[in-house]
Amino acid sequence: MVVLKPGRSDPQEPALAASSTATASLVAPDRGNRFDGARAWAMLEYQVELGPRPAGSSESRRLAAYIRARLPRGRYEKLPGGLRNVVGEIPGKGKAILVGAHYDTKDIPGFVGANDGAGGTAQMLQVAADLRRMKRPAGAPPIRFVAFDGEEATDDADFYGTGLRGSKPYARKHAKQLQAMILLDFVADKDLGIPRDASSDPGLWAKLRAAAQKVGSGDAFPALDQGTVEDDHTPFIRRGVPSIDLIDFVFACWHKTCDDLTAVSEQSLDTSGEAVLELLRELSSTA
Ligand SMILES: [Zn+2]
Repeated sequence: MVVLKPGRSDPQEPALAASSTATASLVAPDRGNRFDGARAWAMLEYQVELGPRPAGSSESRRLAAYIRARLPRGRYEKLPGGLRNVVGEIPGKGKAILVGAHYDTKDIPGFVGANDGAGGTAQMLQVAADLRRMKRPAGAPPIRFVAFDGEEATDDADFYGTGLRGSKPYARKHAKQLQAMILLDFVADKDLGIPRDASSDPGLWAKLRAAAQKVGSGDAFPALDQGTVEDDHTPFIRRGVPSIDLIDFVFACWHKTCDDLTAVSEQSLDTSGEAVLELLRELSSTA
C-alpha cells in the first residue's frame, strides 16, 4: 500500500528492534478468547519460512495452495498475468461481507513480509476457521474471504496502476454483491496501534472499535485518524462499498528486510484477531 497523505507526525518513529520485552504490557489482555492466536501464529510462521513470496513466484503458488486448502469452499480466481486470488465463503443470505488480505510480498531480495503479507493472511485464515465453528443466526449474511494476489506495485511511482492487481479486478466483478469490506493488512506489528485510515468508513470503524473494546482489544485501536492509505480496500471504496483497512502504518520495517519474525508478535496478531472476529459476529447478528 501507499500513504497518499501523511496523517500523524512521524510514521517511522519506533525503534522496534530494541523493544522485544516491552510489548506485553502495551496490549490488552486476551478476554475475547474466541480467536485462536496460537494457530494463526503458526500460519504466519509457515509463510515466513517459505521465504520471499512475490506475485507469480513458485513460493507464492505454494502459498496459494495452502490458503485454498484452509478456506471454506476454497478456490482460485484467475487474474491477468497468470496471477490468482484465492477465494472462500461461509454461505448466508443477502449481500456478503468480504474479509480480505494480500498474500504476496514486495519483490525485494530477502524480504519475507512477516507483518506486510503474512500477518493479514494468517489472521484472515484463522477468522475463517473460527467463524466456521460458530453457530450463526438464521439469515446471517455470507462471509467471503479473499486472499489478494499482486497487491504490491511493480512500479512504486504508479501504485494504483501497477499494484492492487488482485483487488481491482475483484471489485470490478463483485462489488455489487458486497455490503462491506474489511481489509487486514498490518495487524501483527509487535508495537500494535491501529488508527483509522482517513478513507476507511467511519461507521464501520466505530463498530470495529466497539467490538475491540468488548473483547479487551481496545488499546490496539486508539481513537486516532491517520492519512489516507491506498490499499486493497481502495477499489471497493471507489465502487461504493463501505470498507475499512486495518493497517498500523507506524512500522519502521515497512518494505525492509527487518519485516521478519522479530517485527511481529503472537500477542498482536491475537489482539487484533479477537476484534475482527467479534466485529464479524456482530455484523452477522444485526444484519
Ligand atoms: Zn507492502
